[in-house]
Amino acid sequence: MHAQVLSVPGPAAAGPLRPEDRPDPIPGPDELLLDVAACAVCRTDLQICEGDLAARHLPIIPGHQIVGRVTAVGSSVSDWTVGNRAGVAWLGGACGECRYCRSGRENLCAEARFTGWDRDGGYATRSLVRADFALQIPASFGDAAATPLLCGGIIGYRSYRLSGVAPGQRLGLFGFGASALLTLQVAVYQGCEVFVVTRSGRAQRFAREQGAVWAGGYEDEIPAGLDGAITFAPAGTVAVAALQAVAPGGTVAVNAVHTDAVPSFPFSYLWEERVLRSVANFTRSDATQFLEIAAAIPIRTTVQEYPLARANEALADLAAGRVVGAAVLVTDSP
Ligand SMILES: [Zn+2]
Ligand SMILES: [Zn+2]
Repeated sequence: MHAQVLSVPGPAAAGPLRPEDRPDPIPGPDELLLDVAACAVCRTDLQICEGDLAARHLPIIPGHQIVGRVTAVGSSVSDWTVGNRAGVAWLGGACGECRYCRSGRENLCAEARFTGWDRDGGYATRSLVRADFALQIPASFGDAAATPLLCGGIIGYRSYRLSGVAPGQRLGLFGFGASALLTLQVAVYQGCEVFVVTRSGRAQRFAREQGAVWAGGYEDEIPAGLDGAITFAPAGTVAVAALQAVAPGGTVAVNAVHTDAVPSFPFSYLWEERVLRSVANFTRSDATQFLEIAAAIPIRTTVQEYPLARANEALADLAAGRVVGAAVLVTDSP
């Protein structure tokens, strides 16, 4: 197989990935071998490749938004067969036995393993995945078009759930990138009124075109109390701004792996049972629910395709803000 391998993290512009030919991996009893068709490039991949997020082991093949076809099945796998299409996302495994796994919270499992961080991912023509963490991709999505759903889409959906906003209620989205755009489509589909706060006038116009009832900047006053909000911008100040915009009983869900410090704020911002909470990873149940809704809407994704061999270029374009929609690596394997 061909792979784009990270051994030494460094600036995207310098091309931290190196091409490598390796023998095809052999699936363990509980694994599938996939022939990778497409793998989207996430901002988290960029953080791993540049060293902002320390790789759990090196060398590693990045990539955690994979769509491919099963070419070999482990001996104890019964629910997948050769030729099936499968998707793979960030959560690549969990222990199944701890108190979190046993209570529907495998996203918090201390033994959780992440695709393209602990386990080799999809910047390759072949990829090994745990069969019980592989996802069914709705038939209506093409291979490349499905890949962006597998990270920002699923995590955005979990954030929407954790915001507690019910159909018909008012949801605020703070920051408007790829994940927020997917979340907006879910919330509008659920009959929510969506209010988008983002700096760029262009993004504000785009949000209104996509169905937001209102879009404005951080200095503008939101015209109604929000029942809940999701922050996508990795800034502690944004979490506090969102808290000030939610009505009593409202939740602010912070969709970010890390942000800078949350500034101190008066207790009155939390008073009346407002909640500020983080969102960590997702569960397979979130993924399955989201993919069903994505097909029903149907969500439209925008992708910019790159051949696998040009993975460094995709990373550099993402770092420089030159990608429209999602960058997706495509292979013509085998
Ligand atoms: Zn991601
Ligand atoms: Zn566990």
